[in-house]
Amino acid sequence: YQAKRDRTGVEVYESKRDSNTPDRLGLLGDLRRALDAGEVELHYQPKVRFDGHVAGLEALVRWVHPERGRVPPDEFIAIAESSGLMPHLTEYVLETALGQVARWRAQGLEVPVAVNVSPRDVHSPGFAGAVAARLARHGVPAGALQLEITEHVLLEDPQRAADTLAGLTGHGVKMSLDDFGTGYSSLVHLRRLPVSELKIDRSFVARLAVDTEDAEIVRCTVDLAHSLGLLVVAEGVEDDETWERLRDLGCDAVQGWLVAAAMPPQETTAWLRARGVHGWHRPTTALPPSTPA
Ligand code: C2E
Ligand code: MG
Ligand code: MG
Ligand code: MG
Repeated sequence: YQAKRDRTGVEVYESKRDSNTPDRLGLLGDLRRALDAGEVELHYQPKVRFDGHVAGLEALVRWVHPERGRVPPDEFIAIAESSGLMPHLTEYVLETALGQVARWRAQGLEVPVAVNVSPRDVHSPGFAGAVAARLARHGVPAGALQLEITEHVLLEDPQRAADTLAGLTGHGVKMSLDDFGTGYSSLVHLRRLPVSELKIDRSFVARLAVDTEDAEIVRCTVDLAHSLGLLVVAEGVEDDETWERLRDLGCDAVQGWLVAAAMPPQETTAWLRARGVHGWHRPTTALPPSTPA
């Protein structure tokens, strides 16, 4: 194990990205089988604007292993990424998400869906064309699909990444820059990536209401993004106070447990129907006081 310090100085332990331990090989094989068997599911988490309008849904992959139970996406995404299974996983996710978007559209629910893609995908030749072909096959307009990327796409082969992203936006697919503020965020990246949305990482949002430095970082990020013509979404919004701060800072939309956690497809359908044209609104009645301990 490697000891690392996170940005708050707390020591965190991460398992080494060792791609050939028996454990990882076992999980990899199981993931491959689960994909083939259709056992991997997508859940959907709403992104809402401050007026309540549902701006979109993010598709988040969920895998319940028969023996280990729920495996966190961060864990198996890393395994897929380092093993070459990633393109297969992404195909699966895109196929599932687009099938769902097509069904929702047929029911009059026209909400865009965002799919997370990895640097591997963006570097694989023909990715942009394959996405366009898949959209056409499902009869889904490109504007109903958003792809979330991170700055990591620029690490390996920036030119190829730029070509793929240009191909995607050329087809009308919208790009979103995920986890902004983590790692080695750079203004150069913002200029080079053809994104129309920036997502502020949860690590800055979580303590926004109590940490003045985090609040300043968010304020600057919102202003910068807006001056570049980007929409700003805050990730991981869990309480009212954070929602209010973000609204006051001019953020455009939020995603987080305050609104809804990622939900299975049927629950998402019900959620969308219940909100309908009125969108999502914070409960106006105060919660009953909690029982004293
Ligand atoms: P992400 O794309 O930044 O997704 C946001 C993560 O924050 C999700 O974790 C979501 O469940 C979680 N989250 C949302 N609201 C809140 C909140 O209010 N509080 C807290 N504490 N957490 C919240 P999840 O689903 O575990 O996914 C983790 C990461 O795994 C994602 O981060 C994304 O990078 C990756 N991932 C998930 N699905 C896929 C996929 O289909 N393909 C790829 N390539 N990566 C994926
Ligand atoms: Mg994401
Ligand atoms: Mg994120
Ligand atoms: Mg993340």
